[in-house]
Amino acid sequence: MTRRDSQALRPRSVCVHGGYRASAREPAVVAPIVRSSTFLMDDAGYAARAAGRSGDVATYSRETNPSLEVVEARLAALDGAEAGLVFASGMAALSSLFMGLAATGDHVLASHCLYGGTGALFGRLLPRIGVAYDAVDITDLETVRRALRPETRIVFCESLSNPNLALADVPALAELAHEAGALLVVDATFATPIAQRPIELGADVVLHSASKYLGGHSDLIAGVVTGTASAMDEVHWWRTRNGGCMDPGAAYLLDRGLRTLALRFEAQSAGASRVAAWLESHPKVERVLHPSLPSHPQFADVERLLDWPGGMLSFIVRGGDAAGMACLRRLKLILEAPSLGGVETIASVPSHMSHVHVSAEERAAMGIPPGLVRLSVGIEDPDDLIEDLEQAL
Ligand code: PLP
Repeated sequence: MTRRDSQALRPRSVCVHGGYRASAREPAVVAPIVRSSTFLMDDAGYAARAAGRSGDVATYSRETNPSLEVVEARLAALDGAEAGLVFASGMAALSSLFMGLAATGDHVLASHCLYGGTGALFGRLLPRIGVAYDAVDITDLETVRRALRPETRIVFCESLSNPNLALADVPALAELAHEAGALLVVDATFATPIAQRPIELGADVVLHSASKYLGGHSDLIAGVVTGTASAMDEVHWWRTRNGGCMDPGAAYLLDRGLRTLALRFEAQSAGASRVAAWLESHPKVERVLHPSLPSHPQFADVERLLDWPGGMLSFIVRGGDAAGMACLRRLKLILEAPSLGGVETIASVPSHMSHVHVSAEERAAMGIPPGLVRLSVGIEDPDDLIEDLEQAL
């Protein structure tokens, strides 16, 4: 099935049929894992190498491999992109993306509330390659407009920010970025293509930590970038040089996870909505952040920007981080661990985990108050989750 055919399908069907379909030539219903690191050379392989397009013909698996191509095609179809690339991790995807698309003299304008590892990477990598970097509240479009410069090359945001669930107005940000001659790059890890396809809303490039919902079973580390074929060529060059390619076994696991992505995400969205509504009425909880709640600061935009509210929520426990940590320690079913997006419910206190190296002042400015607990709701019965939270609170 070509990308064009699978784009005519709805996302649930693309999860199952996008990118690969058994045929007379390849009768395996499930794409086989091709473990070979190297492949016989033929005229096409020599021609691709000579043209500097080693990603077009599998000759060496750091450049490309049939197992990677299957999952890349499925992901490109899901994101509605011309092309996709998979990486050893979300962080490998981010560094290849920025090495590929930004150059000395450029300016990057990013959201001030991002996954801590992303902020840390930008803070060290970009100055070293001579790229200026500013972080602003991207929910304030006037601030974004004022921060754009003639040399801005990339505007970067998370569709739903980690961990405070701020919602990026992708169409408005795309318009501002394009007026300034910049690309809009969206980290869609929290929303996944089931809730939002940023390219359809005007974004140029999409990134995912596939270690989360796309894989969905907390058993692999993986990253994805999708976008125009020309942008992916640049990013592929860097993936080949920095060696952040995906292992074929991980590609198989990711592809297996993708087939149930829609079912999992829909169940996780429904579960998180129930848990969020229950938490909001709890006396020990100061505030709950989830796009399903009318109290979410951007509730009026949710329907326009998201098809599902997603499985991530954050709540602020009265009593600050110590109270948040004490609550985690009392959980019996919900797991106290980093990461998110798997079938099991996981809780963490970002100020002690993903944002531990961000100062308290910066966390306050980012909208991460003391006592904020992040919950990645899995596919368990929401009543069991509520009972566990009740005894822990
Ligand atoms: N982007 C977001 C929103 C994340 O939450 C993470 C990891 O938690 C990453 C990127 C980095 O991905 P990975 O851990 O797969 O390298």
